[in-house]
Amino acid sequence: MFDTLSDRLSATFKSLRGKGRLSEADIDATAREIRIALLEADVALPVVRAFIKQVKERAGGAEVSQALNPAQQVIKIVNEELIGILGGETRRLRFAKQPPTVIMLAGLQGSGKTTLAGKLGRWLKSQGHTPLLVACDLQRPNAVNQLTVVAERAEVGVYAPEPGNGVGDPVKVAKDSVEHARAKQYDIVIVDTAGRLGIDQELMQQAADIRDAVSPDEILFVVDAMIGQDAVNTAEAFRDGVGFDGVVLSKLDGDARGGAALSVAHVTGRQIMFASNGEQLDDFDAFHPDRMASRILG
Ligand code: GDP
Repeated sequence: MFDTLSDRLSATFKSLRGKGRLSEADIDATAREIRIALLEADVALPVVRAFIKQVKERAGGAEVSQALNPAQQVIKIVNEELIGILGGETRRLRFAKQPPTVIMLAGLQGSGKTTLAGKLGRWLKSQGHTPLLVACDLQRPNAVNQLTVVAERAEVGVYAPEPGNGVGDPVKVAKDSVEHARAKQYDIVIVDTAGRLGIDQELMQQAADIRDAVSPDEILFVVDAMIGQDAVNTAEAFRDGVGFDGVVLSKLDGDARGGAALSVAHVTGRQIMFASNGEQLDDFDAFHPDRMASRILG
């Protein structure tokens, strides 16, 4: 992911190299190239506009005209603006003062929530926590099983309705799981919720009911980086319907352009906190805007 964007941006910067001074025409041409690169990478239009405006303003100003190496200075500006679009500082998980910390996962079906529950559980376990995964996706027939398997592989606890009893009440399961965590000394509860293939009112309501029942410390919206502009629309729908505190990008190992997913933070005002880049439990890490910007700029 992001290879095409990287290639296009580095070609743009190459054409600036060796220039002693940048004329207004140089800056315009560079801004145009960057704009095309971002649009081709599927970055959402409002994000592209905001980005180009900033880059143009700064590139046309004193920080570049007085620089010893204008090309380097433009790269620096693009880097800084990219970090800004990606959310600026790294945001870490917020833990409850009184355990258990409740983390709720929301997103469309297939976005990677269940897989993420395992990855996050394992990651938190490696940091000394004792996570409990909770199966509140009672809609998809195999979801409870899948979460149980994921929890076993991640070697973390799981709380699920008994097999065959899968038509239960996800709100009750969520509530009970917090009690269970308290009794069994799990310090983190990760609630996997149901998702549909498209945005759906009933699903939103169910997620909102679970939210109200367990008052999560963090609601993480999981978004598949492969779904293009739908990532932005879905994020807005979940922000308005359920609300969320942070974003998890999944499937960053795919060969899609990925720009839409990168737009989610800017469009929703919520930071990307984690990124998933594969089907294995270890294909996962905290998201650092500066590292991602460096990766994109090559
Ligand atoms: P859910 O419906 O939101 O719970 O989604 P799942 O966790 O079941 O994931 C849907 C599919 O995407 C599964 O086949 C996962 O193995 C796969 N998947 C999840 N995360 C990633 C990822 O980061 N990269 C890749 N390539 N596949 C993933």
